[in-house]
Amino acid sequence: MQKLYDTHCHIDFKAFDDDRAEVIKKAREAGVGRFMVPGVSVEQWPRLQQLANNYSSWRFGLGLHPWFIEQHSQDQLSKLEQALDEKPKHLLAIGEIGLDATCEHSELQRDLFIAQLKLAKEYRLPAIIHHRKTLETTHPLVKQHGPESGVIHAFSGSYEQAMKFVDCGYKLGVGGVITYTRAQKTRQAITEVPLSALVLETDSPDMPTCGYQGQRNEPAKVVQVLDVLAELREMGKESLSDTLWRNSCELFNDSQSASSDHVSD
Ligand SMILES: [Zn+2]
Repeated sequence: MQKLYDTHCHIDFKAFDDDRAEVIKKAREAGVGRFMVPGVSVEQWPRLQQLANNYSSWRFGLGLHPWFIEQHSQDQLSKLEQALDEKPKHLLAIGEIGLDATCEHSELQRDLFIAQLKLAKEYRLPAIIHHRKTLETTHPLVKQHGPESGVIHAFSGSYEQAMKFVDCGYKLGVGGVITYTRAQKTRQAITEVPLSALVLETDSPDMPTCGYQGQRNEPAKVVQVLDVLAELREMGKESLSDTLWRNSCELFNDSQSASSDHVSD
């Protein structure tokens, strides 16, 4: 059975309230045995943590996402620190954090991003980084303040942009974007960067893959992303998925053995 790791999905969101267990089961049957679910706001963290406790294959991050900037404030950083000090099981990352040019309060976004990068460094956790029209401004901040490892979620950009992050020790999240042939620049970049820099993701319920536009995305679709990546890199799916599994476990300092998973799911 393939060991696939969806390194970025929001299966705690309401979109999955009616059939979450079913979605996870379907993903598992497709070979997707692990999920990283990022934190987005202080209000969401407790529920995320609670859900994570229900599934042995569920990992999570904690962070303040720029999309929810209206709900964030500086004093919430101490709550993040407090949560990190408690070291909950399966908390393996800081994120989702970053800069989004389509959201307001750019100064607060920047302050919170830098502070969270510093916390990730202090607590030796990888950062899950969101970007939107901000790759160029994100890079110097990651380089200056960030932890030694992390992932650029939903990477889309050129080979040169990709390598700047790869050279910092960061991985690139490869998702639905590459299933669209029009995404030429990103497809080319993903084909040329070192394989050790890649991990798979879906960003469920968002970013549907080609052929499923307008529908809710889900972790099982990571298989479609793997298929396209195997084609682009001219690799066998099995050896590709093995390598990507190892890359994902390395990224989150997660156990490479999947044998202990699913027992309680
Ligand atoms: Zn996300």
